Amino acid sequence: MGETMSNDIAGKPVGVESFRDRLATMDEKGKRKWVFAQKPRGKIYNIRTWVSWGFFALFFALPFIKINGRPLFLFNIPEARFIIFGKVFWPQDFFIFGLTMIVFIVFIVLFTAAFGRLFCGWVCPQTIFMEMLFRKVEYLIEGNAASQKLLKTQPWTGKKIRIKVTKQIAFYFLSFIIANFFLSYIIGMDQLVKIIKEPVREHVGGFSAILIFSAVFYAVYAYFREQVCTVVCPYGRLQSVLLDRNSMIVAYDYKRGEPRAKYKKTNTAQLNTGDCIDCFQCVKVCPTAIDIRNGTQMECVGCTACIDACNTMMDGVGKPQGLIRYASENGIANGQKLRFTGRMKFYTVVLIVLAGLLSFLLSTRKDVDGTIIRAGGMLYQERGTDSISNLYNIKIINKTIHDIPVTLRLEGTPGSIIEAEGREILVKKEQQGKGSFFIVLPRNFVKERKTKLMVGLYEGNKRITVLKTNFLGPFTAAH
Ligand code: SF4
Ligand code: SF4
Repeated sequence: MGETMSNDIAGKPVGVESFRDRLATMDEKGKRKWVFAQKPRGKIYNIRTWVSWGFFALFFALPFIKINGRPLFLFNIPEARFIIFGKVFWPQDFFIFGLTMIVFIVFIVLFTAAFGRLFCGWVCPQTIFMEMLFRKVEYLIEGNAASQKLLKTQPWTGKKIRIKVTKQIAFYFLSFIIANFFLSYIIGMDQLVKIIKEPVREHVGGFSAILIFSAVFYAVYAYFREQVCTVVCPYGRLQSVLLDRNSMIVAYDYKRGEPRAKYKKTNTAQLNTGDCIDCFQCVKVCPTAIDIRNGTQMECVGCTACIDACNTMMDGVGKPQGLIRYASENGIANGQKLRFTGRMKFYTVVLIVLAGLLSFLLSTRKDVDGTIIRAGGMLYQERGTDSISNLYNIKIINKTIHDIPVTLRLEGTPGSIIEAEGREILVKKEQQGKGSFFIVLPRNFVKERKTKLMVGLYEGNKRITVLKTNFLGPFTAAH
């Protein structure tokens, strides 16, 4: 990942970088090494705690917020129904959704190129739930890292069983709560309340989903933990291509810190050593167990715990803070400030163009939409001597919050439409409606095998939208 600094800063021979041979959380045999991260303390950790409270408030409050009777957000993947800022999106709006995803990805790319893993450290739900909720509960029940380690080595006494069981119950309880709210983003809070209030047998699917989500969250936060970031998360894997030497990262100032040496109360200038006192506090607080002094590493989630830990040590030995800080690799190597590079400018232009296109699509998006296709397995029907008809199926999507009775009219073409059921199609609010109808055209109008037609959808006399379709005529009609 990126250019390494460890050879010169750590004084290791070129090519020997054993820390890159395997994850810091694995031993030589590939067995998991449990991370007992020490509780961080410091200014940035306090700010992150406040940010996490904001995140929790949003996460638990958003499912209760409604606009015009609709949830603010809903991501109902099973029913392919999405509500974003109170607007309903259907599979037919897929291109808008796809474009939103592209804009989001470009934003992530640009943001990462400029600010590294700021997202991971400050707002990623995985980091926030792990470090700001489950880890804190763990500190509360089992104590700090040293107590946790000690507890692990102790025999299974009544006290140890009590502590471990309490922690697992607390973890499962939190996972259960998170699972309920997570599900409310998929099915809506109203539906979730029904699942909770009504008998289980009436909501077997929903109830099973809660149990499955609870089990997954519990497994992630109780056991899998940092492996989500270091092994599973694709965003973490992408860092090596997204970051460059001008990206802002959590970085160790090796120019100032090396050669590192244990602290002695003598003048370091005389001893010709750097400011790093090799206290390993930055490693002890790291939730992914890496040593940031080895340079940029994929496992670093930018949580800033090492910044706080090192600042505390620098305060203790009377040195300036910031031996570990937010900086770019160039910033550390050449004393350069963070720059708006050519690559960032290019990403910004792409982002502006895509955002403009997205705004256009959103502003011109239809509230009622649909598709008309000719009924399968049929050609055309002769109607008397002078007319030909085709049978069609229509699907109409009503994205509004009121029912719409839809009638159909041919636009700019002689002929008529005969609705198969003899009446208008009622499309309920936020639902799909369907129907069948014949288009009847004068035989002398049908000059080609396929004739393009426009069908208007009307609510009373108000045209809602126009849909395109084809009319199939006899082969001979073309001659
Ligand atoms: S190296 Fe520092 S910022 Fe990166 S994960 Fe470890 S403690 Fe967090
Ligand atoms: S906390 Fe700071 S001083 Fe201590 S080992 Fe890490 S970088 Fe060096």
